[in-house]
Amino acid sequence: MTSLGGDRPPPPIPDRLSRKALGEAVQGCRACDLYEGATQAVMGEGGAKASLMLVGEQPGDREDIEGRPFVGPAGKVLDRGLERAGIGRAEVYITNVVKHFRYKASGKRRIHQKPDRWQVSACMPWLEGELEVVKPAALVCLGATAAQALLGSQARIGRDRGKPIESSLAELVTITTHPSAILRERGEAEREAAMDEFVADLSTVAAWLDAH
Ligand code: SF4
Repeated sequence: MTSLGGDRPPPPIPDRLSRKALGEAVQGCRACDLYEGATQAVMGEGGAKASLMLVGEQPGDREDIEGRPFVGPAGKVLDRGLERAGIGRAEVYITNVVKHFRYKASGKRRIHQKPDRWQVSACMPWLEGELEVVKPAALVCLGATAAQALLGSQARIGRDRGKPIESSLAELVTITTHPSAILRERGEAEREAAMDEFVADLSTVAAWLDAH
């Protein structure tokens, strides 16, 4: 059964916000239980003034070990998608709504588990801090967890992907699939089709950034 936040301490958000200060402070966060099984918290990465922010769900196995976002298999898919859309990874700030890896141990493997809604809410102040520091012109939610955390529970990938969504978070806010969903497609043809759709969504963002 899921344990709720109860009287856990709030996230220790630093008074003076910077990427460095956030990155250091997040390691001491105990606002939910996810720090208990994780190696470390994984804060976002990229230029402090990047015009595009990409927000995924949470770090995976590789990210938890390396302490960097999107460095595992899904990160490689993301890199390919960005490259095909003509967006340099250096131009973007990449992060997740939840900063610690949630998983279920299965032998030596650690199987990804979707964070609960209360854990997403508990972690949100870190992302709010990142948004305040980076102030991106465009923001792309990767997958349903990020979309629903930032845009409300009514956000739907299938219906809303690639379209501008009204939000005060950035000038352009949109959603697309999470790269790990492309990896989960069963066949080669399905994976290719999912990748093409992903690239089309990112290309729309690239065109918007070029025009602004
Ligand atoms: S997942 Fe987020 S809220 Fe939970 S302990 Fe880690 S940093 Fe804090």
